[in-house]
Amino acid sequence: MSKDIDHWIDDVGKGWQPLVRGLDANLRDIDPDYIIGQVKEKFSGLRFYLDAFAKPDYDHALKLIEAAEALSFKTCEDCGMAGDRVNVNGFWLKTLCPLCFKIRQTTSA
Ligand SMILES: [Zn+2]
Repeated sequence: MSKDIDHWIDDVGKGWQPLVRGLDANLRDIDPDYIIGQVKEKFSGLRFYLDAFAKPDYDHALKLIEAAEALSFKTCEDCGMAGDRVNVNGFWLKTLCPLCFKIRQTTSA
């Protein structure tokens, strides 16, 4: 486990990295010693897991994480523009803007 967001940031696309870094900064403000459990994309949305967080503020932290995860469903994971959940190649769910969707369709075919 690592406290450092840089250890996790590349586990999500470039478009979500500002969102994840913003969330990390907000959480770090509340508990400077908090520990990240995992950061990843699942079913087209951001998942951000805590491994350790100062107890009194835990609910606040979960609210911040929920807000960031909700935002990820409207943010293109590749470029950060407004995006939607799409089906890449018919089975692979991603949140992408129309342009990145087109790029993925052509490069992953
Ligand atoms: Zn995009």
